[in-house]
Amino acid sequence: MSTYDVTVIGSGPGGYVAAIRCAQLGLKTAIIEKYNTLGGTCLNVGCIPSKALLDSSHHYHDAIHHFEKHGIDAKEVTVNFKQMIDRKNEVVSQTCAGIDFLMDKNKITVYNGFGSFKDATHINITSEGKTETIESKHTIIATGSKPSSLPFIKLDKKRVITSTEALSLTETPKHLVVIGGGVIGLELGQVYNRLGSQVSVIEYMPKIIPTMDGMLSKELQKSLKKQGIKFFTGHKVTSVTTKGNEVTVIADNKKGVPVEFKGDYCLVSVGRKPYTDKLGLENVGVKVTERGQIETNEHLQTNISNIYAIGDVVEGAMLAHKASEEGECVAEIIAGQKPHIDYNLIPGVVYTWPEVAAVGKTEEQLKEEGVNYKVGSFPMRALGRARASMDLEGQVKVLAHAETDEILGMHIIGARAADMIAEAVIAMEFRASSEDIARSSHAHPTFTEAIKEACMAVDGRAIHS
Ligand code: FAD
Ligand code: NAD
Repeated sequence: MSTYDVTVIGSGPGGYVAAIRCAQLGLKTAIIEKYNTLGGTCLNVGCIPSKALLDSSHHYHDAIHHFEKHGIDAKEVTVNFKQMIDRKNEVVSQTCAGIDFLMDKNKITVYNGFGSFKDATHINITSEGKTETIESKHTIIATGSKPSSLPFIKLDKKRVITSTEALSLTETPKHLVVIGGGVIGLELGQVYNRLGSQVSVIEYMPKIIPTMDGMLSKELQKSLKKQGIKFFTGHKVTSVTTKGNEVTVIADNKKGVPVEFKGDYCLVSVGRKPYTDKLGLENVGVKVTERGQIETNEHLQTNISNIYAIGDVVEGAMLAHKASEEGECVAEIIAGQKPHIDYNLIPGVVYTWPEVAAVGKTEEQLKEEGVNYKVGSFPMRALGRARASMDLEGQVKVLAHAETDEILGMHIIGARAADMIAEAVIAMEFRASSEDIARSSHAHPTFTEAIKEACMAVDGRAIHS
């Protein structure tokens, strides 16, 4: 029987990063993946394919709406949707192949099969009807998540679809009805809106991206509305039915009056749920929460001391970089080190255009916690760089402690916000004050000048607004 110091079940950004870090630390490591390709949700049906389609559709949108103004004559630009999907598939294959290379490079044994616990130190791997058992001192569960739905919705995966199908359609919808105005609904909604679909977003809460700072929800909705997406916030979906190629969604509006939506596709994007099916947790007695998440302590350790869990399958934000941080952290813990993750400093990004990115506390949270804070904001339209590229929408908002000036949160909407938020994360890791950023030189002309100016605005001394 093969034996390992560590076995990782699941090869997403949590699992494969954990495996690499374990191998770097000299631990004999194996990884088990039930699908033929490594990389998990993120690489196969999540972050990477969605960003590939966002980038392709962004080019098309620019070509038909902005090229002329730039002095580029590109008449009769059309979409070859099959090629767009083929390119996305190529990006996915290349990225997954990169993980195979990394497994080889780090001498990690890869098992293609379904992993399940036989007992706390033995794992069965089943593939094509055959089962092999391996022995492992430690196991890291990194089995991720699956799309969730509403109890009355039948996901036929043809007309009533999840993000997985929405990333591989064979035609652009005429009318895409999106249930859930969160990250997936808005990113994929924007892809199809740009490609010419009518897109209606039905959101249960009074605002889209409801957990983010209110300024971001408001600004993003305004911008996407201008681009043609229709929003129905405060609407409670009560039924979804399909007849032939037509999907009918009924939702009660704020007054409780039923509103009918007819589309050719309905994307259900109301969140994701942890995935632990047939993992054999009952064979080892690993505890799960009421929401199906594996319970862990602050060391990502389950109630069974040699079994750890990370990523979407445990509590916290369902984000690839959060899963990867936990992957590194758990490997170091197993190797006897004392790493730490500050969950308040995991950034959240929505890759629409304008992009949305945030870290730390929202203004709503600070109010609720009774923290005394100051606000500084700066509009993108006041930047030379924004004018040059015609990306005038958005702003940076900085929240700093009223007495100490420590930055407590940063909320950005605008071009390149996703890349810019790293500055805030690093500043906050070092517990910087808004004055620290205000006094740091930012290259001109760049979008990051908006961060410096917003920090200056905390002290009422922004230069360009
Ligand atoms: P996963 O990536 O879900 O990987 C788990 C792996 O475990 C899977 O490959 C699964 O097949 C395997 N597995 C499960 N059970 C077993 C078993 N018993 N035996 C063997 N293998 C098993 N996050 C971001 O940060 N940025 C983004 O831009 C972003 N975009 C997204 C877009 C979409 C459309 C979706 C759906 C998600 C997106 N996410 C994004 C979220 C991100 O994909 C997840 O947070 C991340 O993949 C979680 O990583 P993980 O390693 O915990 O699990
Ligand atoms: P989400 O939690 O981001 O959004 C779900 C939305 O659906 C929420 O706004 C919620 O209020 C709404 N909702 C819930 N029940 C509803 C109902 N009955 N009717 C109408 N609306 C309802 O979830 P998601 O968009 O499905 O994404 C799943 C996960 O994947 C998220 O945790 C997210 O972090 C991750 N993800 C991240 C990125 C990114 O980082 N850019 C992109 C895509 C997905």
